[in-house]
Amino acid sequence: MGQNFLQDEGVACWMAEALEAGPDDVIVEIGPGLGAVTRHLVGRGRKLILVEKDARLAAALRDQHAGDPTIEVLEADAAEIDLRPFFKFGPLKVLGNLPYSVGTTIMARWLETPSPVGHALFMLQKEVCDRVTAGPRCGDYGQLTVRLQARWTARQRRDVPPDSFHPRPAVQSAIVSLRPRDRHELPVFDESLFGRLVRLGFSQRRKQLKNVLGDLPVPWPDLCSALGVPETARAEELSVAQWVELTRRCDPHPLSDHPQSDDELFDVVDDHDRVIGQERRAEVHARALKHRAVHVFALTPRGEVMLQKRSHLKDSCPGLWDSSAAGHLDVGESYDACALRELDEELGLRKYAAPPVRVAGLTAGPDTGWEFVELFTVTATSTRTRFPAAEIEAVLAFPVAEIDAWLVARPQDFAPGFRRCWETWRTGPVARPEDAG
Ligand code: SAM
Repeated sequence: MGQNFLQDEGVACWMAEALEAGPDDVIVEIGPGLGAVTRHLVGRGRKLILVEKDARLAAALRDQHAGDPTIEVLEADAAEIDLRPFFKFGPLKVLGNLPYSVGTTIMARWLETPSPVGHALFMLQKEVCDRVTAGPRCGDYGQLTVRLQARWTARQRRDVPPDSFHPRPAVQSAIVSLRPRDRHELPVFDESLFGRLVRLGFSQRRKQLKNVLGDLPVPWPDLCSALGVPETARAEELSVAQWVELTRRCDPHPLSDHPQSDDELFDVVDDHDRVIGQERRAEVHARALKHRAVHVFALTPRGEVMLQKRSHLKDSCPGLWDSSAAGHLDVGESYDACALRELDEELGLRKYAAPPVRVAGLTAGPDTGWEFVELFTVTATSTRTRFPAAEIEAVLAFPVAEIDAWLVARPQDFAPGFRRCWETWRTGPVARPEDAG
């Protein structure tokens, strides 16, 4: 289990300080072991969660901290643990002197989009830290670098020599810190297509990209001139921004940096939801005119609810969590037709156990943004979604009980329209699936 325990008190104390946890933060330590760093973390945040795979160490930690209600010990594999319950704690401060064997896997997993992490500080082999923080055109620059740096700002903080541990490891260690990259630094891109292209590109890093990327929807010379790279380029010659641009140009999904248009036309309705005219989107919102929208909760076959994280480009509620799909009715469109269209356009979902069912209606008012909202649920037969990156940053299915708990702990993480719909669905006299949580 990679149990090289830290003996250098100075390094342990430095790590706890460098995490920069405030009194309102929830801190997670991965692989606390004998507690070398843990003792410097106690009392720093409002809660400290220790994730330890070794049953004996976890039991010892539990005994040691039994009297402290702010400390929770989870006996779990940090490479496999369900991360969804962590979202309700807000952006986490995560720290770990990671086991060498699975350190990279654990790091990649906790930093996968969407991630509950706000700042991570990991001790790993120096060689892995070099890969995480590498720049283009060098041997350390690879798949791990590009995938992490597209979403995180990585900085190497300090080296730690083998003498600092018992038993002494064979390799040098180092500490790397990772913070979410400002979403405005790079244009939006489809994360799964990006992952596929980067994996493919670096799978044979000595070969020229044109020979490893296979068939692309855009001719290779055109791509190269748009990216400003030679046609002979290899994977390591493309910067992270160029990998993102390559992905954008190969994305068959309609992609723009303006997720909504002010010129869209909506039906305007009266107090009784009867159409009384049409108006431009910008006008409808500026003048608080009543109009129509749907929200859809797409359920997985296990009864979990898919939530979407809105793109940071949206003009309302950017970056917040929202219903699986939601949107305004087009002129002349019915609520049912709109629900089907939004499921297709936003999530790429076309296969359902049965068509969407209307489960509630909300009257237009200030709390709904002057929208009459019809809420639908649908059970999707597949959880494979495909969404436009300009509109949606991520989609993830959560157990119903987990969303309930998250809403209580951090209502500010959710779009107000979703909160109204959820409240109605959970408390209203409507059939709903058994709680999957
Ligand atoms: N944090 C302690 C220290 O600095 O002395 C221990 C660090 S030691 C390098 C790695 C720790 O991670 C050990 O306690 C080990 O039992 C634990 N561990 C190993 N694999 C793990 C996994 N998959 N999930 C969680 N903990 C793991």
